[in-house]
Amino acid sequence: MPKTVGIPRGLFFYEYYPLWKRFFEELGAQVILSEPTSKQILDAGVKSCVDEACLPLKVFHGHVLNLVGKVDYLFIPRLTSVSKNEYICPKIGGLPDMIKHTLQGLPRIIDTEINLRKSSSNAYKAAYEIGMNFSSNSTEIRKAYKKALQSHEAHKEKLKSGILPDEIFSKKSARIHPKKELTLDIAVIGHAYNLFDSYVSMEMLAKLRKNNINIHTIDMVDESDINQMHKALRKRMFWNFGRRAVGSALHFLGREGMDGVIYVMSFGCGVDSFVCDMVERRIRQNSDIPFIVLTLDEHSGEAGMDTRLEAFIDMIRWRKLNESNIPAYG
Ligand code: SF4
Repeated sequence: MPKTVGIPRGLFFYEYYPLWKRFFEELGAQVILSEPTSKQILDAGVKSCVDEACLPLKVFHGHVLNLVGKVDYLFIPRLTSVSKNEYICPKIGGLPDMIKHTLQGLPRIIDTEINLRKSSSNAYKAAYEIGMNFSSNSTEIRKAYKKALQSHEAHKEKLKSGILPDEIFSKKSARIHPKKELTLDIAVIGHAYNLFDSYVSMEMLAKLRKNNINIHTIDMVDESDINQMHKALRKRMFWNFGRRAVGSALHFLGREGMDGVIYVMSFGCGVDSFVCDMVERRIRQNSDIPFIVLTLDEHSGEAGMDTRLEAFIDMIRWRKLNESNIPAYG
């Protein structure tokens, strides 16, 4: 019987699942995913997690509980940094400890630290340590890691082309560019785990597409463009997400034909609180592109979210049809 590894469908799942899945499978393990986010998963997470945590952490707790009793190992790496000289978020760095101290009856947790802040070679060291749980053969682990990186690169290319993670994982055909009259181009900036979890985002991206909107996310922007735009800041960003969010927002600002920007933030997120403000100031100061902030927490109601989204889209369409001189403040 192969060993089973549970991967919670939250946080960095949307970016790294193909890499982790391939790595474990190459080493003979069977990967088991938690079920898609649902009311039950969210409620279980909210009940078990500390009140002060942001929504994505609560959702993650729910996904961990969904895997309890089904797997030999839980994969919850200690993600300190995924890029040189940058950090992710202290809450994600401390996640394995938070999980161990709040939930009971857990299987063995693989909580190896991944910290690329100082050196990218740490990624292989971490993979080696993780792989040792499944194989004592270092060549086999190295080969599995190489193949996993290939899967990761292929995944990033798909995201860049506009295919959403749900479409990639379910192999559903993607509907990337709606072709109808009054198509709009709107940038949607936010954490992947908020945007791409359709329960958490209340199907925001699908609704936008149904409304003939081409959506543009951070993952669709070249890393080199992000870095180039990010140089406009006086100080280098400390957070990986901050650099990518600000860099891509500035990139979208300079792109011809962008009709609006939506910033999706997590209530209680320290990183979002200043990154969102920075993005908003830049947009207001340098353009007249309509901008809206939508905040997600466990109390967010779908009707309220839909109303704000529809009003925003209607306003942009009306403006395109009737006026060309309305400021971003409406
Ligand atoms: S970056 Fe923000 S939303 Fe993400 S885990 Fe940290 S506090 Fe939560």
